[in-house]
Amino acid sequence: MQFVDLYAQHRELEPALGETINRVIRDSSFIRGPEVELFEQNWAKAAQVPYCISCANGTDAIYISLRALGAGPGDEVITTSHSWISTSETITQTGARVVFADTETDSFNIDPEDVKRRITPKTKGIIAVHLYGQPANMKALSEIAKAHGLWLIEDSAQAHLARLDDCPIGTFGDVATFSFYPGKNLGAMGDAGALVTTREDIAEFAAAFARHGGKDLHVMEGICSRMDGLQAAILNLKLPHLERWTQARIARADNYDRLFTEAGLAGGEVQIPARMPGTLHVFHLYVIRVKKRNELRQYLNDSGVPTGIHYKRPLPLYPAYDYLGYTPADIPNASQAAQEILSLPLHPHLDETDQVTVVQTIAEFFKDQ
Ligand SMILES: *Cc1c(COP(=O)(O)O)cnc(C)c1O
Repeated sequence: MQFVDLYAQHRELEPALGETINRVIRDSSFIRGPEVELFEQNWAKAAQVPYCISCANGTDAIYISLRALGAGPGDEVITTSHSWISTSETITQTGARVVFADTETDSFNIDPEDVKRRITPKTKGIIAVHLYGQPANMKALSEIAKAHGLWLIEDSAQAHLARLDDCPIGTFGDVATFSFYPGKNLGAMGDAGALVTTREDIAEFAAAFARHGGKDLHVMEGICSRMDGLQAAILNLKLPHLERWTQARIARADNYDRLFTEAGLAGGEVQIPARMPGTLHVFHLYVIRVKKRNELRQYLNDSGVPTGIHYKRPLPLYPAYDYLGYTPADIPNASQAAQEILSLPLHPHLDETDQVTVVQTIAEFFKDQ
């Protein structure tokens, strides 16, 4: 059993995948070019927004968005304590100061009430993350942003095609960022990223900034963050399958829910993922909460069931943020979650028999306790 089986996805796309790669070799359009332009159009359409600017990876997409919104020295940007470090390190890269807010206990997403408490006269914006594929509480965050004149970025690296109140994520904030890292819900065969926005000014700035301030124009100094033609061609090939793969993830998550309920574990020893009202959760990860997490993880590992922990500590408690002086008491929900979360194998090609094995093995562990 594998935690994520990327080869199953690629096997499904043969021989088209090989033909696509050969076509890119023949066309030799390796950086940007027609495949990249086509992907930008395709992803804007899929995300239901007017503008998509591609770039080298999901981390750059956040950095470019922050620069487009003017983040810089003297500013504070509030983000979640529970995410991959790209979300916060890009804030520091602009010269702004990261301010970490706590999470909601049920969704693991940023808690709008704690965001409110952390606003100061220096606060310029908020980065929300749709963690594990579940949309953050964008309604509350948008209201806070509006009331305080803040901008809002949606880090959507784990949430391709997720929806909230039947609107696509990425349409609530000023800009939304995506990663197409191989293991993401839509993945390339290397690094790739993009931002989407409804704001023409952000699209224009981002397009120029990501490419040295515009080829031969250099209206500013920028960075070099480009999508490969090869990655774009692979993403164009995969995109028509994304809806089906997303439904397959959701079906497998529902299946886990049912198996945990039938085993009498759901709501007892195992807290299954909450579905927040109005959200379409696209299950980049299926994350349960348990006491004795480390013992359970070891037991599963010894039984041949791979698991993950996303993530092992709240961001502000890693050494990189010692200088900010956070303690677990500042972010109690995120601190407790980090002790109890466990990500189970999940991908669109996961067999039901494997899911039965996972749940049975967890049931065995708790029976012996
Ligand atoms: C993967 C990820 C990123 C970064 O994407 P890369 O393409 O790896 O740079 C940013 N934020 C979150 C929440 C992610 O999961």
